[in-house]
Amino acid sequence: KINIFWHRRDLRGHDNTGLQYALTAGLPVLPVFIFDTNILDELEDRKDPRITFIHDQVTRLNTYYREHGGALDVYHGTPHQAFEAILENYEVNGVFTNRDYEPYATARDSALENSMKAKGVDFFTFKDQVIFEAGEILTKEGEPYKVFTPYKNRWLEKFNQLGVSKHDSEANLKTLVPARGREIPSLAEMNFERTEIDLPPAEISDALISQYAARRDFPAEHGTSKLGVHLRFGTVSIRDLVRRAHGLSDTWLSELIWREFYMMILAHYPRVIDQAFKPQYDRIPWINDETQFEKWCNGMTGYPLVDAGMRELNATGYMHNRVRMVVASFLTKHLLIDWRWGERYFASRLLDFELSSNNGGWQWAAGTGTDAQPYFRVFNPYSQQEKFDPKLKYVRRWVPEYGSPDYPEPIVSHKEARLRAIETYKLALSQN
Ligand code: FAD
Repeated sequence: KINIFWHRRDLRGHDNTGLQYALTAGLPVLPVFIFDTNILDELEDRKDPRITFIHDQVTRLNTYYREHGGALDVYHGTPHQAFEAILENYEVNGVFTNRDYEPYATARDSALENSMKAKGVDFFTFKDQVIFEAGEILTKEGEPYKVFTPYKNRWLEKFNQLGVSKHDSEANLKTLVPARGREIPSLAEMNFERTEIDLPPAEISDALISQYAARRDFPAEHGTSKLGVHLRFGTVSIRDLVRRAHGLSDTWLSELIWREFYMMILAHYPRVIDQAFKPQYDRIPWINDETQFEKWCNGMTGYPLVDAGMRELNATGYMHNRVRMVVASFLTKHLLIDWRWGERYFASRLLDFELSSNNGGWQWAAGTGTDAQPYFRVFNPYSQQEKFDPKLKYVRRWVPEYGSPDYPEPIVSHKEARLRAIETYKLALSQN
């Protein structure tokens, strides 16, 4: 008999909660990864760099297990198909896995748990992706928080009481099922192409953390961690990062808490996926001009900071946080284009795409979300540029033709667009 450890968004062998529990449960462990066709078939881009990233990490993880006498057993299909194949080949006692909180994942896991249990196989899940799950940080009345600062205060209070554990999964790797010769499916076999991408390393220096508060707002600098993609796929441990942040930078720790805040919002209010958190904001009559949307996507709005951000996103799969806020505000307020359009575009491009943070960020910028930017605050893209890119270093990097006749005129006037946004929001919100 063996136990299975199923990797999903935790592509690492160190400090991995579920893996640690599996390895110490007394039976040999077979680590498994599934290239889930339910997810892959939804992707439009056959060169999606995230698939290359995952493939590389899965290959790395396989090498890691092989160094310890085991191997990662990799499947391509639905989880249901993969588990059928596993159960045909092995006598399985239990499946161990770390919890994932997105709606697709929770539905998948409860279906699998039922079908495993029907076959006499246990299904154990663990907290690994977050410090505190949605139900762990609640108000005194037992309600979810809707505002960030009191949520964060409660989070910190609990964190200071409980601390954060480390799961020494690496020390227990001796109980792996001996390696068999199965190959990892290639990208081509899964109908994807390899994309060369410049990926940030899965590490951050103490110096960067300490200087984060002072440098994080300047998009031309390398002042943030760029760990988003690693947090998304679990190539770093959130516990490691929080431990490092604590004491070195309250500001950086705060950002890691925002991540859990939005995960908590999505878990408690899954309707935010396609509805405004504040329902009255779904009355806004978006203009949704497709030509303007396309110009925004291509970085051709005539607003240099907006265009630089969109071109950075298109070229690298990354955009600096300050600029994400500016381009999102510009799309929803200056152009009155539905935040869901922007959210979808980001989802297709961002390497660090995270359903909860992306939705939270978009609803924040559009004013429709929890603890959002008030609707009458409309970022001025020019003053944002003067403040955060005063020497135009970032703008010139991405918009080299800026200042020449080749650069487009602004597609809307800031002054008029700002007034139009405020009027439109005000009118929509005043209706019953
Ligand atoms: P750092 O600044 O070094 O922060 C460290 C980590 O903290 C990040 O990697 C991320 O996991 C978390 N974090 C930081 N800021 C936030 C925040 N405001 N909300 C939630 N988590 C945060 N973040 C994503 O991870 N995925 C997304 O799809 C995403 N979409 C966004 C869309 C919009 C419109 C906006 C305004 C923000 C979005 N963010 C998203 C939040 C933020 O912009 C990115 O997390 C950050 O820019 C990633 O860069 P970094 O890894 O260098 O982060």
